[in-house]
Amino acid sequence: MSETPLFVEVLLENSLARPLDYSVPPHLASRIQVGARVEVPLKTTLKQGTIAAIKKKSVYKQVRPIHRLIVPEGALSEPLWNLAQWMSRYYATPLQKVLKCFVPPHVRKEVKQKLTQTVSLLMTREEAFIQLGIKPSAMHAQLIEALSLAKGPVTVAELISQLKISRSPLETLAKKKILFLDSTPMADLTEEEFFPTYPKQLNAEQSTCLDAIKRSLNEKKFASHLIYGITGSGKTEVYMQAIQYALEQKQSAILLVPEIALTSQTIERLRARFQQKIAVLHHQKSLGERSAAWDNLLKNQTQIVVGARSAIFAPAQNLGLIIVDEEHDSSYKQSDEPPCYHGRDVAVMRAQLEGATVILGSATPSLESYTNAQKGKYHLSILSSRAACALLPRVQIIDMKNTYEKMGGFTHFSEELIDALKERLEKGEQALFFLNKRGYRRQQICATCREAIKCPHCDLALTFHLSSNHLACHMCNFQREQPRVCPSCKSTEALEFKGFGTEHVERSLHALFPSIRTLRMDKDTTQRKNSHEELFMQFRAHKADVLIGTQMIAKGFHFPLATLVGVLHADGALHIPDFRSGEQVFQLITQVAGRAGRAELPGEVIIQTFLPNHPIISHAAAQDYPSFYAAEIEERKMFGYPPFCRLIKILFTGPDAAGVQQAAGHIWHQIKERNIPQAEILPILPAGHPKIKDLYRFQCIIKTTSSVVIDQILPLLPPSTSDLTIKVDVDPISTFF
Ligand code: ADP
Ligand code: ZN
Ligand code: ZN
Repeated sequence: MSETPLFVEVLLENSLARPLDYSVPPHLASRIQVGARVEVPLKTTLKQGTIAAIKKKSVYKQVRPIHRLIVPEGALSEPLWNLAQWMSRYYATPLQKVLKCFVPPHVRKEVKQKLTQTVSLLMTREEAFIQLGIKPSAMHAQLIEALSLAKGPVTVAELISQLKISRSPLETLAKKKILFLDSTPMADLTEEEFFPTYPKQLNAEQSTCLDAIKRSLNEKKFASHLIYGITGSGKTEVYMQAIQYALEQKQSAILLVPEIALTSQTIERLRARFQQKIAVLHHQKSLGERSAAWDNLLKNQTQIVVGARSAIFAPAQNLGLIIVDEEHDSSYKQSDEPPCYHGRDVAVMRAQLEGATVILGSATPSLESYTNAQKGKYHLSILSSRAACALLPRVQIIDMKNTYEKMGGFTHFSEELIDALKERLEKGEQALFFLNKRGYRRQQICATCREAIKCPHCDLALTFHLSSNHLACHMCNFQREQPRVCPSCKSTEALEFKGFGTEHVERSLHALFPSIRTLRMDKDTTQRKNSHEELFMQFRAHKADVLIGTQMIAKGFHFPLATLVGVLHADGALHIPDFRSGEQVFQLITQVAGRAGRAELPGEVIIQTFLPNHPIISHAAAQDYPSFYAAEIEERKMFGYPPFCRLIKILFTGPDAAGVQQAAGHIWHQIKERNIPQAEILPILPAGHPKIKDLYRFQCIIKTTSSVVIDQILPLLPPSTSDLTIKVDVDPISTFF
């Protein structure tokens, strides 16, 4: 009697919307599972896909068999499979696109892992010598001595060069089953050792917080915690002790950190505490290293994962704890390609599906998370003072209108800031200057027609960069020389500059203090791999007096000698017409100010602004999150923005402005005609950046209080073509950009 045939539905990674049927060859029948990766024939090639369903019958007559099951990556666990399906629905993205996030990097890119040959002794030293007989060759004896001293496997290449031998004695002893030759993925062996650190005695607030987390971990069912703890209050210490506890319960843990904070400093801190393998998932790691990390997780050889947003998909076994550090950070949101998911929200959902505990932590929680805590959905813990006895910095707000009047015109630096800097230079301390604009001058303007020189591909004024003597587009990187005639009105009158960037600040500082040592950190100075980190290291080693930078300097690092923070132009981003701009300015100022005086030396923060009485600025200066929250949440309520509703952004782009606008308008009318309840469809408008890289952009924002609205809209959106691309972004970070 033959077995009943089996069929599977396989989702391929190309744009096919529906899964395809394949038959299962008998030898694979016992190993197939929903969520398993398979290789299947399509026309004349083999493609990778994921099994979406298993069934006894297929309606198709001619069904081709699966070619191969891709092991050991195997199947997605049930919670991960459910997470993928939730993401597909919630973020309105086809399942096969979502599944890409869950595929290990080397399978996705089809790159072979780099393997390292290792060798180890299969027996004790004494046993080995007995096996070799009375007169072992000197070389064999030397090998066994060397290997018996090493605790584990040794790299073959290293051993050969150390003992100055060839491979052949190794192979001889391997044949005699005295040695074992093996191949291991690279990353396994490259872990450095760190000076160990031990858990700190927690203060009262930290203890209360950790106790609540431990209770959740004990219950082994879904629970969510929000830690609102000011900068330096010891959140990371609580995370580490929570991870420790999860490990003791034989559970694994994932720690998500913002992209920019994922530096060696964070990783060192973890490695120094946990004397075990940590899977670091970071785009700057090689594919080989990342897939080795993935493998270790699948085999449950690693129980700690740290990484940026995509690490939330790591196949940690028996997952008990997920931590999202700086949960408010916008780098958790993937905006450039679908699925436009938010790492924090996916983390909460994964914790729910795995029955795990999730911790969100921040000095400036997002309005959404704090509201959830207020409603009791998240357990709230507050850490209200700095842990290591460091005091909060003294903060001054400087009205730049007065400064301009006094100085008779523009300057980057108020008298107060200059005096404070002088004092630091005399004492041998350091300062951070923050300005969220890079380049030298912001724009070049025609004196005749007042038009800015724009990028020919984007609707954006070009920025002047002095070091390269070029105008550059910050959107598409287009560069050109300064024009002699105005491209708009052909006037040959001299062009004027407007606005300043970090490069200009650096120059001005040198003009004021000829011997000052500065470092600048922005997109221009951090192009090379690791340059970001090198700059930090240099500054920490006191190679410079002042670090000038954009938002890159706001997070992650800790400079013991930095006692002065200058925020040069605090209100810039407040003018952006976006519901989140106030929140973002508050977060940024609070985070930058938090860099001052984190160690024994007291800190000082000087905030320069034209809006000294603006509530956002004064709340940030006072590091007063609760007052900021109270004011901001009222505005959100009044104007109907999250967390009082959900937003869906539909972005229409294409090469022909009129064409895109017309097509978008047509779709808009169709959506309107549906009269979808609980949905407010706002008019089609040009996006905040109306043109990028020769593509025109229009958008429609939908406000809704129901999660099913997207299901009703999706069928009305035609598939993308070369004339019109449609992107759906659920819970967009911004309604402007
Ligand atoms: P956060 O993550 O909130 O910014 P950290 O965990 O980095 O804070 O703590 C700030 C500093 O205080 C670190 O140097 C840390 O080692 C120290 N620290 C944290 N908790 C304690 C504690 N209970 N006792 C002493 N020092 C602590
Ligand atoms: Zn002109
Ligand atoms: Zn451009």
